[in-house]
Amino acid sequence: MKTKGLLFNRFFLIFISIFVSISLFLLLSGLTKFEERFEKKVLEVVTADIIGIIKNTANSIENNLEGSENYIETIKKSKMTQINLENKLSVLLTENIKYAYLLYKDKKNVFRFLADGAPDEQKAFLNQKFDVESEAWFEVYKTKKPVLLKQPLLHQLSITYLEPILKNDNVELLLVIDFSIEKTKDVNEVITLVKDIVISINIVVVIFILILLIQTIKYYMVKKTAYVDKLTNVYNRNYLQENENKINLEEYILVAIDIDHFKNVNDTFGHDAGDLVLKEVGKTILSSIRSKEDIVIRYGGEEFIILTKKQQSHDIKSLSVIKRIHKNIQRKKFRNTRGETISITVSIGVNLYPHESRNFKEAFNLADKALYKAKEEGRNQIQIYKN
Ligand code: GH3
Ligand code: MG
Ligand code: MG
Repeated sequence: MKTKGLLFNRFFLIFISIFVSISLFLLLSGLTKFEERFEKKVLEVVTADIIGIIKNTANSIENNLEGSENYIETIKKSKMTQINLENKLSVLLTENIKYAYLLYKDKKNVFRFLADGAPDEQKAFLNQKFDVESEAWFEVYKTKKPVLLKQPLLHQLSITYLEPILKNDNVELLLVIDFSIEKTKDVNEVITLVKDIVISINIVVVIFILILLIQTIKYYMVKKTAYVDKLTNVYNRNYLQENENKINLEEYILVAIDIDHFKNVNDTFGHDAGDLVLKEVGKTILSSIRSKEDIVIRYGGEEFIILTKKQQSHDIKSLSVIKRIHKNIQRKKFRNTRGETISITVSIGVNLYPHESRNFKEAFNLADKALYKAKEEGRNQIQIYKN
């Protein structure tokens, strides 16, 4: 019971941390997905036109070679055909379409040039070896489908487009176009704007949660200090007033403890020594109980209430805690600042069945009656209330 508030805090903290982490993760992955999708869409729109033109060129090359038995050999043998093809390819070149060339794959799986649309001074020569960078180039020969290879650079997207030219359902030639797309300023601006908005919302949410967290912790800290007696570190009267109706009396044995002749301690050793004794008595009680289950309250100057959890309705067992406290206090030698030892005893009144009373006050009165009896009968003893 004593640790319940703190326990709640800990769970609350864990819950909030998990919540914040998950929401941050979702937002960040959402952002990345959004950026990917947006760029993909833009890319689709921009490349659609270029790919259309490339396909036309591929068709036109095929038409040119129609009728010949072997495309590769035909091109290799005829200078005219080469020039013709290179003219077609050079027409494709623009500021963004940097290269357009026709390749074939020799028997050793090496790619070689057949025609190059580049200007004369940069033109690759016939059969010149061409090194490919990825498996995708070979894949085209299996899938017989065009491939778009993307390479994102800082401000632009570099694209290589491979269009297969088939003969008798086999890939014979590869029309290759290298082009680049400027990542337009607008696209970047929209992405940055959305990112900023999402991040700002995120920051506000995190700040809000943090404030909530700090307030909750503060609340529990204030509540804790308001409920705990500074001198003895056990609960005080405020706690009792706030919680007496919430305590399930069926679960506890109600015990009233009063220090015997405490006035004498003050009178003989001084008020400070009295305080020290009270502090030590608090400590002794706390160390004698089961701190998680039992409740200790200082309800008067030198008077304590203990609510000790019933041990499976065995009165004897439950009482053993009380006997232990009685003995521990009796045995203890309190030492004041001047080194003098002080011994004290306590009188204890027990109500074994507090749940039979209508409320906490009545249950306590019965324990107090037993305590009074203990005082009357000579102090330093435990009395159990009997009706
Ligand atoms: P009894 O055996 O009948 O209980 O006698 P008692 O002297 O213990 O009881 P009494 O009620 O006559 O006196 C209690 C004393 O406890 C009186 C008061 O000065 C002292 N006291 C109460 N609160 C404190 C405190 O916080 N510090 C100190 N040092 N003394 C306190
Ligand atoms: Mg008293
Ligand atoms: Mg007393």
